[in-house]
Amino acid sequence: MSEASSSSSRAAVILRGLPLLARELVRTARARFAGEPDRMRAALEWVLERAEPGRPDSVLEVLDEFARSKRFLMNVGPVKGLLLDECVERAGPAARVLELGCFCGYSAVRIARRLPQGQLVSVEKNPGSVEVARQVVDFAGLAERVEIRQGASSDEIPRLAGAFDLVFIDHHKPLYLADLQALEAHALLRPGSVVFADNVGPLFGAHEYLDYVRGCGHYETRYHRSTVEYTELEDGAEISVYRGPKAEA
Ligand code: CA
Repeated sequence: MSEASSSSSRAAVILRGLPLLARELVRTARARFAGEPDRMRAALEWVLERAEPGRPDSVLEVLDEFARSKRFLMNVGPVKGLLLDECVERAGPAARVLELGCFCGYSAVRIARRLPQGQLVSVEKNPGSVEVARQVVDFAGLAERVEIRQGASSDEIPRLAGAFDLVFIDHHKPLYLADLQALEAHALLRPGSVVFADNVGPLFGAHEYLDYVRGCGHYETRYHRSTVEYTELEDGAEISVYRGPKAEA
């Protein structure tokens, strides 16, 4: 049906998102007028005031509540978060996980709570995010399992060593492809490593990334249709299993 296919187009999703965007602009303006802190600091304050220390699930619930009722947070959210949970479970309790883009620490808490013997390395460019995320992770009682590195992914990836079992990509969308290729070039993926790319739905124009993982022959890959975090707008995650470099002819 033509209506169904057009609803998947970027323009259609953007149009459907306009009321949400307008609501968010009003919320942001109101918060600024009231002298409230920026959204990350406001989210941190909510966590410190309302969540239970040492209980990661409580931290996630409070951040979800903040994103729904106060101001939007570009976390992976509770819906696509279930897909991420499955990937972490499959990677196992001692997995070594890499995250590109930490923001408030929501996904770091989500991942690390399922890694009792594992470790998460998270790369985040924004120093303000790093400061907030470290406090959120610490409050959740997960600081020993999470290393947050402040820096651009293009600088930090070459400094990492050893393959990761799972990589969660959720930072600046135009960097997805170059950073994935850098992970390959620096031997940070092994056959069987899983790469979870968030926000590759129609709104985000991730064609180059999707064309690459689907066409390069290095991955077994699948698109999981979902919604943009905390909204009903279409989005998706691409979950790709690295098969190793293409065999020489
Ligand atoms: Ca995201």
